[in-house]
Amino acid sequence: MIETPWGPFPIWLVYTPVVILGAALGSFANVLIYRLPREESIVSPSSRCPKCGRPIRPWENIPVLSWIILRGKCAGCKQSISIRYPLVELVCCCLAVFGVSWFGFNYSGFAYSMLFISLFTLIIIDLEHWLLPFMITIPMTIIGLVGAVFFDLRGIWDCLFGMAAGFALFMALLLGGKALFKRDAMGGGDVVFGIMAGAFLGWKLTILMIFLASLLGTLMAIPILIAGRDISGRAIPFGPFLAVAMVICIFVGDYILKWYTGLIGL
Ligand SMILES: [Zn+2]
Repeated sequence: MIETPWGPFPIWLVYTPVVILGAALGSFANVLIYRLPREESIVSPSSRCPKCGRPIRPWENIPVLSWIILRGKCAGCKQSISIRYPLVELVCCCLAVFGVSWFGFNYSGFAYSMLFISLFTLIIIDLEHWLLPFMITIPMTIIGLVGAVFFDLRGIWDCLFGMAAGFALFMALLLGGKALFKRDAMGGGDVVFGIMAGAFLGWKLTILMIFLASLLGTLMAIPILIAGRDISGRAIPFGPFLAVAMVICIFVGDYILKWYTGLIGL
């Protein structure tokens, strides 16, 4: 049995909808990954084979299973469908199950499952297109804010100060980068990401997230620099580092802060 806001429920009754919803969100993540960077509508037209344009029938659109049944080929043109589609669905499904098992079958579980799936989607889109779409970060900001106001996800003031800190710090980085390097080191998408992160993390962990993301980015750049490749043109997007740093902050951010304040004798 699992504790829920409506009393104890059997495990299968809790996780069956979580698995189905996670896979469905993974399917939706595939749509977002494909369409958002191309500025296509996410509702119409319905999903099509990217190779022959044949509309995908509902039974061909069952997450993971359809791909296996069709053996990774389009039912129309028989050209292969990337294994990335079922993999994204599977990962999202696992993230939903993990989020609920870690945070509980309640608003926290819902909010963090959505957050992990969103971060995963953002990483893929940013790696391919260097974009952090508002269509993902704005709804997630609202989910974080609603959690703080109604579900004790975080203190309401900490949430609001976090959003303000995220906005201010990312704006400073954006404008500072522009002034220093005479080019756009960051985009508006990064600023909204900062606001979203602030809503979930509060202001202290938001500062830590930026620090950790920069650290991770620098560590990644060293082997590339040693290999003698030019990274002055911003060879890697910053979003994946931000997303990984945010996850680190969610789970161990408070410990890191405690360790650090102990270190400098506060
Ligand atoms: Zn096709």
